[in-house]
Amino acid sequence: GEMSVPSPDSVRVAVRVRPFSQREKNSGSQCVISMHSQSTTIRDPKNKGHLKTFTFDLAYWSHDGFQKDEDGVLIPSNATSKFAGQIHVFHDIGRGILDSAWRGYNATLLAYGQTGSGKSYSMVGFGTNKGIIPRVCEELFQAMKTQKKNMEPQVMFSMLEIYNEQIRDLLSRTKTPGGLKVREDQQLGFFVEGLKWVPCENYAQIEKLMEQGSKIRMTASTNMNASSSRSHMVITIRLKQVFLDMALTKKSSINMVDLAGSERQKSSGSEGDRLKEGSRVNLSLTSLGNVISALADSAMGKKVLHIPYRDSVLTKLLRSALGGNSRTTLIAAISPADICYEETLSTLRYAERAK
Ligand code: ADP
Repeated sequence: GEMSVPSPDSVRVAVRVRPFSQREKNSGSQCVISMHSQSTTIRDPKNKGHLKTFTFDLAYWSHDGFQKDEDGVLIPSNATSKFAGQIHVFHDIGRGILDSAWRGYNATLLAYGQTGSGKSYSMVGFGTNKGIIPRVCEELFQAMKTQKKNMEPQVMFSMLEIYNEQIRDLLSRTKTPGGLKVREDQQLGFFVEGLKWVPCENYAQIEKLMEQGSKIRMTASTNMNASSSRSHMVITIRLKQVFLDMALTKKSSINMVDLAGSERQKSSGSEGDRLKEGSRVNLSLTSLGNVISALADSAMGKKVLHIPYRDSVLTKLLRSALGGNSRTTLIAAISPADICYEETLSTLRYAERAK
């Protein structure tokens, strides 16, 4: 039965607004987002005075200095939410994930938002602006150095992509036609048959694997004539702690998911495969939303009879890492620009369902 009872704080939601891109700056884009501590307000650029405010657990601002308000007047860009860099975000979110993992609980981090809204920046990052995933991995091994001698930690790493409801192993060069299959085991729950799990002893190994995986992901997407923005990338770290003198083993997994772009596929001009692809991307995002929302309801004490994990590959895979004693964090990545208003509003609404 699908009867996990999550703890009340099992789904946390963060919203992060990225800075203006050069293109948006050049075209004189207006900012439609403002943040004050935990509240995020979006205004409709076509309907003056029409505001909608959302409250999330965390809100990250990315603009220093000033911005123009609705009347074009320069105002301080933000009164209470400080500019949030990668370290700040890692401290708030990554630390908690590691903490859960060390305590033997599963943790899941999901980045949701339209293409170009900053999902990869938050999760993976670029250059020295490392995102949460590399920081979590680095810190994981860092923490081991100061740990007691009676515990032996083991780390296994996997990296996969879900494209069109098909799974591709990003650590393997052999391509399985039709993709890898999700199987169900009485004890293990859902698992990916034949997925490569690489034992890692230090951060450098993981860094290398992530590099290789990203390369495979990029070549795969050009071959399939699709961009990686249409696929979900799932990185999983399995941590096993063997306490030698206590005959005790703690197991946990950390799942970090860079979701496919949430933008709706335009029906005009996208036919056949593209259309199928679009609806399947939406299928897994929709079913993820349904699962998270059911979990949030159940955390609020509402009676939830059914959590629809079986509806998509992604939710099957995350089954044991969502709900139960797991800690789930959703980062809603948004653009500040007026031209993205509709998509941003839909992202904020999606995130709101997770509360
Ligand atoms: P997505 O993964 O959602 O498609 P990206 O992470 O690739 O979007 O972000 C799009 C662009 O915006 C990139 O050039 C990225 O460097 C930049 N960007 C996104 N978020 C931030 C941020 N918080 N701070 C600075 N630059 C950002």
